[in-house]
Amino acid sequence: MDKILEVKDLHVHYFSNRKTVRAINNLSLDMQRGRVLGLVGETGAGKTTLALSILNMIRAPQGKIISGSIRFDGKDILAMSKQELRELRGKDIAMIFQDPMTALNPVLTVGDQIAETIFKHEKVSKDEAWAKAEKMLETVGIPGARAKEYPHQFSGGMKQRVVIALSLACNPRLLLADEPTTALDVTIQAQVLDLMRHLIRTYNTSVLFITHSLGLVVENCDEVATMYAGEIVEYGTVEQVFGNPLHPYTRGLFGSLPDYSEGAARLRPIPGLMPDPTNLPRGCYFSPRCPHVMPLCEELHPTHTSMDGHLVKCHLYQENANVEQPI
Ligand code: SF4
Repeated sequence: MDKILEVKDLHVHYFSNRKTVRAINNLSLDMQRGRVLGLVGETGAGKTTLALSILNMIRAPQGKIISGSIRFDGKDILAMSKQELRELRGKDIAMIFQDPMTALNPVLTVGDQIAETIFKHEKVSKDEAWAKAEKMLETVGIPGARAKEYPHQFSGGMKQRVVIALSLACNPRLLLADEPTTALDVTIQAQVLDLMRHLIRTYNTSVLFITHSLGLVVENCDEVATMYAGEIVEYGTVEQVFGNPLHPYTRGLFGSLPDYSEGAARLRPIPGLMPDPTNLPRGCYFSPRCPHVMPLCEELHPTHTSMDGHLVKCHLYQENANVEQPI
């Protein structure tokens, strides 16, 4: 398949109180063009850090991409100049945050904000940019005449629609959607997701969909990756991972969930806590919480094993591990 994004051996650290927070640890992940990849995991797993790394927005001196590569359409994002990054962000790659006000400027009308993005990235006049901004608002179900209004004049759900219009204004090839509907009530959430699905299909956009909801993954994603302590521990198609979850952490998240099709199933807390990212265990990061832990797990960090493209990072599946498979 045609890869739009390739993240390879990524390490990202934050520095605080003379300690090093290892937020992303040797993470590799591919995304295919026109597909939606769901990224699931508990708070603090590094999901948002990964999205910010893809935009090369980890800010020094608090944070740093230590090593690895991120290629978008074959180009190395980490080697881009400031000018290239300005062109990339907003045009080729856009991000929707959980809180719409993170993306909106309270002192500019929503029309000005969308038009400015279009004007910056496309060869159009200011009038054409404004006309396209009105059209984008209409696409997300907001009358074009409301382009002259300010963010505070919109409700929460409407503000998130404005953010989607802003994000999709330049037809990005990759959309990073970080819990885009978490702050909305269920009815508005369903409307906003319907709209996103429609726009994604129309523009053949690839999406990294970060969510706490397994139901939303089933309904909206093609592939799914489970993230734990800054690494991907399982990856596969939705059918592979939901049909046969392999990693004990993924199994824990899925454990006794009622019905994925209801769209309401959320990540279920697993007993214990994620390890301290300033002091990660030597072996498998999940070993202190894993019901299948073995002596080897506490000594040696597992690597990925692939079964027909279904990847898992766990000693239970590694050749010569000489251990029993979980039931
Ligand atoms: Fe559990 Fe060991 Fe697999 Fe880690 S490597 S998830 S501790 S069985």
